[in-house]
Amino acid sequence: GTLSLASILAETATRSPERPALHFMGATTRYGELWDQARAYAGAMAARGIGRGDRVAIVVPNVPDFPRAFYAAQALGAVVVPVHLLFKAREIEFVLRDSGADLVVVAAPLLGEALPAARAAGVPLVTVLAPPVDAGGPDLPRLEDEAAAAEPLARHVAVHPTDAATILYTSGTTGTPKGAVGSHLAAVEQVHCSLIDSFDLKPDDVVFGGLPLFHAFGQMAVMNIAFRVGASIILLPQFDPDAALGLLEAHGATVFTAVPTMFVGMIEAAGRSAARPPLRYAVSGGAALPTAVLEAFSEAYGAEVHEGYGLTETSPSVSFNVVGEPIRPGTVGRSMWGVDVAVADPLEERRVELLAEPGALGEIVVRGHNLMKGYLGRPDASAGVVSDGWFRTGDLGTVDAEGIITIVDRKKDMIIRNGYNVYPTEVESVLVDHPDVAMAAVFGLDDAVHGQEIHAAVVARDGRTVDGDALREYVRERVAAFKYPRVVHVVDRLPVGPSGKILKRSLQDRFAPVP
Ligand code: ATP
Repeated sequence: GTLSLASILAETATRSPERPALHFMGATTRYGELWDQARAYAGAMAARGIGRGDRVAIVVPNVPDFPRAFYAAQALGAVVVPVHLLFKAREIEFVLRDSGADLVVVAAPLLGEALPAARAAGVPLVTVLAPPVDAGGPDLPRLEDEAAAAEPLARHVAVHPTDAATILYTSGTTGTPKGAVGSHLAAVEQVHCSLIDSFDLKPDDVVFGGLPLFHAFGQMAVMNIAFRVGASIILLPQFDPDAALGLLEAHGATVFTAVPTMFVGMIEAAGRSAARPPLRYAVSGGAALPTAVLEAFSEAYGAEVHEGYGLTETSPSVSFNVVGEPIRPGTVGRSMWGVDVAVADPLEERRVELLAEPGALGEIVVRGHNLMKGYLGRPDASAGVVSDGWFRTGDLGTVDAEGIITIVDRKKDMIIRNGYNVYPTEVESVLVDHPDVAMAAVFGLDDAVHGQEIHAAVVARDGRTVDGDALREYVRERVAAFKYPRVVHVVDRLPVGPSGKILKRSLQDRFAPVP
């Protein structure tokens, strides 16, 4: 019964109780302490009747209470349902109902949205963290008080490897959120095999913890892999590049794991500060990393950037530019240990028709223990994305003869203008090659003449200005005529979600022509 998510923290805490696990607001939590705190919370949850298979939702930002509550539920064999921190009451209520939550743990500052949601869904609520000073409001039970009154859990309960460990909701940009059910086997294999094999993480490493832990990328590629190895994490509830740079230097960060928008922020921050953490390497994932950003970051911080690729449904990592092997900028490296990757005919909807020719462009499909068990309560949606054991990612890409994977774009982000396929990622990487451009997002808008029109929204680098028309001509000289953006919007900032991804949907809403 040791093949469980809980065993990841339990084993490291037993082996090296004195090693630092978390750095947060100037305080350090050691592994032994963290596991004790998790077992104390588990005692309180058990006193509320939570046990194996029950669902514990958590609405908590990147503070030590996230791993405490997460591992408390894991220690009981319960299923953790981390809630997206931007969700409003209506969306939280949906997640609580859809997941069948038996308890919800809420950070007091987030009660504004979470309390009405829990009440409407009829789910018992406990709080962590102090409420904001002016909160007033009802007197709600605190997990810490209940833990003090309860008997701590002695040891984590045994689970079956195929039992559910987590339910991670997709953000729902393309419809109602769906709960991807992840098993213990998927999580443990991801951590013990795929990530260990690719990351070269050591107990002395100090990892940047600014990726949201409610999302698969931060949860696995920062929290769980660090806990497995006994490395420490600098927890940041909010990402501000200047503050992050100061903290990274102060704690001697050696690994920076982030999404591309965070890399851009750190490049700009390096121009404003002489602070340089002793980074050994960096990891990028979650969205395409333009080569210009990869190079600028490496130059500013003296650390190579290893890009990987993954999805919530695949626990999440699929491929990686493995640490210790030469990086191949512009690619997402090779498939990780235990994960099979192939390319399928994107037009064949019913079955997975693999394309045998190396380098063929098609839909990336993935097979392995890392696949989710399915979308909770959505057999049709689950069946629609898996066939013959292959999971359809919805991403277009290639796998070359050496197994090196390149992501071209998402199927649904592809723009079709006058019948020509345009991949936004390619155009974005040309835009950010321009010395005055910090960030760019290319998207399609419905157009009566061309079907769709190609728009770009760009942000200028610190202290520079961008002329939209001149930038349009710059791109026009560098790509085929059907690809360049016809309209360039210069904006102060791009809309970025809490997982750091650019929200193209809100750009489309903002720039859609008024009918
Ligand atoms: P939603 O929940 O709305 O579906 P999402 O699609 O961003 O959001 P995630 O599971 O967070 O859900 O992200 C997975 C997607 O992120 C992949 O399908 C792919 O499109 C994109 N992605 C991840 N890594 C990379 C990468 N290195 N290069 C290009 N795209 C990437």
